[in-house]
Amino acid sequence: MNDAEALAAFLSDRHVACPNCRYDLHGLGSARCPECNLSLALRVNLVEPRLGLWLAAAVGVSTGIGFHGILLGLVGYSLIVNGLGLGIRDASLLGGGFVMNGVALLVLLRARGPFRRCARPARLALAVGSWAFSLTTAVLFFAFVD
Ligand SMILES: [Zn+2]
Repeated sequence: MNDAEALAAFLSDRHVACPNCRYDLHGLGSARCPECNLSLALRVNLVEPRLGLWLAAAVGVSTGIGFHGILLGLVGYSLIVNGLGLGIRDASLLGGGFVMNGVALLVLLRARGPFRRCARPARLALAVGSWAFSLTTAVLFFAFVD
């Protein structure tokens, strides 16, 4: 049985909506939706994708991106109007924190699969570590800001 036959067999006794247009695919004879003409495939998914701690880690470094990004915008505004007493050094510190948290987020986005395969204690440590990393970059900014 090939993939198209497996899809047809699956839909022969089920009423499943097309994920794109919601057309009822019951009795479908090909691997294309007759309504929107997009290709369809039968897939295996995890019932529980174990992404809670990955999301917690991603939110942790995203918080750092938001913190540094908002303050970087404030420093940029200050540099333009020269009224808030912030300058290039502050912008460099914030830019560094923004980039470090951004790189951490990119690594997390790329490593979602390996993250999910880790044991729960390792995933918990990575989530806590992401928040600690984000908090550390913010604390370092306040320690070195003029
Ligand atoms: Zn469709």
